[in-house]
Amino acid sequence: MYADIIVDISAGQLDKTYQYRIPEKFAAQAVIGAPVLIPFGNRQRKGYIVDLSEEPKIEEARIKPLIAVEERGKVIESNMITLAYFIRENFGGTMNAALHTVLPVKKEVRQVEKKKLVLAAERAVAGDALAQAVKKKHVAKERLLRELLAECELPWEVVTEKLAIPQSTIKSLVTAGLVRVESMTQYRNPMAGIVEKDKVQQRIAPPLTKEQQNIVTEIVKDYTEGLRKTYLLRGVTGSGKTEVYLSVIEEVVRQGRQVIMLIPEIALTYQTVLRFYHRFGDRVSILNSRMSQGERYDQSLRAERGEIDIMIGPRSALFTPFPKLGLIILDEEHENSYKSEMPPKYHAREVAVKRAELEGASVLLGSATPSLEAYNKALQGEYRLFTLTGRAVEGARLPQVEIVDLREELKEGNRSIFSRSLREKITERLAKKEQIMLFMNRRGYAGFVSCRSCGHVMKCPHCDISMTEHSNGTLVCHYCGHTIGKPPNCPVCGSKYIAAFGTGTQKIEELVRREFPQARVLRMDADTTRTKDSYEDILSAFSCKEADILIGTQMIVKGHDFPMVTLVGILAADLSLNSNDYRAAERTFELLAQAAGRAGRGERAGEVLIQTYQPEHYSIQAAAKEDYEGFFAQEMAYRRAVAYPPAANILAMLVLSPKEELAEAAAALLAGATEQFVREQEGLEITLIGPVPASLAKANDIYRRMIYVKQEDYNLLVALKNFLEGYILYSENFKNVNVQFDFNPMSGY
Ligand code: ADP
Ligand code: ZN
Ligand code: ZN
Repeated sequence: MYADIIVDISAGQLDKTYQYRIPEKFAAQAVIGAPVLIPFGNRQRKGYIVDLSEEPKIEEARIKPLIAVEERGKVIESNMITLAYFIRENFGGTMNAALHTVLPVKKEVRQVEKKKLVLAAERAVAGDALAQAVKKKHVAKERLLRELLAECELPWEVVTEKLAIPQSTIKSLVTAGLVRVESMTQYRNPMAGIVEKDKVQQRIAPPLTKEQQNIVTEIVKDYTEGLRKTYLLRGVTGSGKTEVYLSVIEEVVRQGRQVIMLIPEIALTYQTVLRFYHRFGDRVSILNSRMSQGERYDQSLRAERGEIDIMIGPRSALFTPFPKLGLIILDEEHENSYKSEMPPKYHAREVAVKRAELEGASVLLGSATPSLEAYNKALQGEYRLFTLTGRAVEGARLPQVEIVDLREELKEGNRSIFSRSLREKITERLAKKEQIMLFMNRRGYAGFVSCRSCGHVMKCPHCDISMTEHSNGTLVCHYCGHTIGKPPNCPVCGSKYIAAFGTGTQKIEELVRREFPQARVLRMDADTTRTKDSYEDILSAFSCKEADILIGTQMIVKGHDFPMVTLVGILAADLSLNSNDYRAAERTFELLAQAAGRAGRGERAGEVLIQTYQPEHYSIQAAAKEDYEGFFAQEMAYRRAVAYPPAANILAMLVLSPKEELAEAAAALLAGATEQFVREQEGLEITLIGPVPASLAKANDIYRRMIYVKQEDYNLLVALKNFLEGYILYSENFKNVNVQFDFNPMSGY
């Protein structure tokens, strides 16, 4: 056996692995992640095993044996390498890419040295000196001593600039042994700006409701007894999940362990971070994509050194190198952003569970609308399920929901984007000076074709997935490649109003301004939130009542609290229903439930109006009633019927090449190799779909082909992936071709 060793655990050096022979006596200990001692040049060095193989990569005679293999102990690097291997195995991609994912990017960053002045003498002595200074009218000395007695220490700049103390005064106090100059390592602190902005006093935690308290008690009881589990907390928005997190975190930290709190980047707002800061002060830090590499590295370092207890951040914060991790929380567990879009295409939920297992931590998943995967696992007993049934704030009620059938509107001759009911309600709210949110679900509107008279959507006869309009006038199914010409009339009712549907938010803003000239309007979408703070700016402007109507995409429905919003209008609920992947209904339900959750967060009752061409669709019906379980049952039945996750597993392969014929040939070879793999496994049955052009058939001059494989057993798909990786490695036909694997994709290709 041979081991690939990395010697230097820093991302810059990860490409350099060295192969060593494993002596027989170490065979058992030599596992991925194990620390080893190797001969290196003319010295010995420590390294880690990142991969094992049967074959030597170079001439066998030139490979040296390892000196020693140590137990894969509690070393954080060791766990991270094991985690990288888990990611590579289960989600594809190279070991190198996986290591880059889990290890902090070590960037030589010069620490900023900062000086401070501290009180060096006893307080009584300093007090005497102060009295002396007052008597002798040494005003500078007096000022400095007074401040130091109050603060104990002062940053150098404060002393020299704000207090304007001359150097000579400082010198004489140092000589007298009253003060001391110290230097402190200054980390770039991402919390600094946040804390500065905060004018609110330390908030006291509200007493938990009985429901909240029961959940906290149960989780803490398990934890204290040493039981480590994965929990799923389902509770509508506003039911008080965050308070539950805070209380559990408090206990875990009290027991001397650290916590990773994952939040989708879009929900990582000032308000959210502040809640954690109020509870845990300086022991909290954050990571986000706007921070520089240096800033991010600083935060990893602080975590590693035990200077913080809680790290809040998006997916990548999962790899915070806490030495004694106790808990990982994933808020909004259903969010797509927990799945990496770049290889390795890992899912943070699965990797969190693995990391927790390696390090003896618990995992807490929370959502108003759990993913089908998570809820299914909870029902099967793999996760422990908790439910919060009501809103936490007294008096806050679930909103009233009305569904408007847009086909009826058309019949009545109303072709505007506002139904009569919505127009009426907006006018009424504007008169009462209450706020309105208008939600345009843009996701997936790219080109699905529907009839505006009867609501019929052009779907693939083989896949139950809406077809996508291509510019050459054809409709294509992106799951099986089925292609038809675009019909001039609706095949169901004959209407000529059949077209690719889609109205952007910009257009809506125009229409709102025209229809309601008295209203002050804000718009939030990808275009208006390009600059660094614009997202927060728009939200705070709206929350300060600088506008009456906020128009936006899904961005506006994620967890923001606007107590003055009493009407939420969803302009076309079907848009996400007709996107070209099997999660369309789930996503629609999520978005509608979230959007509905925006209304009536304060004392005033809220109302939600859903406009749709498919009012009878179960995802819309269930969302209107906030009936998660009803939705889950229906959707799960559908997934079972068509064998989609979580009823089965899918391995998607994306074949990329700058040359179309290369992509096509490589995809065909992969399909062939897949069939070969199946033949070699006695009795194995799989469903192979493709190769087909991806819905984004060419991007940045790269051609894209897809293959999908469906199988119940995830491990068989992993075996297939491993087989294909080997096949690709030894085949001549994959030069200039890149193959990406994606297990249970979260979005269509
Ligand atoms: P979620 O995370 O489920 O959306 P939050 O924890 O943010 O819910 O709670 C929603 C609102 O209810 C917040 O304003 C929060 O301060 C308040 N809240 C939560 N729990 C309580 C409680 N036990 N007593 C009073 N207010 C609470
Ligand atoms: Zn029709
Ligand atoms: Zn199809």
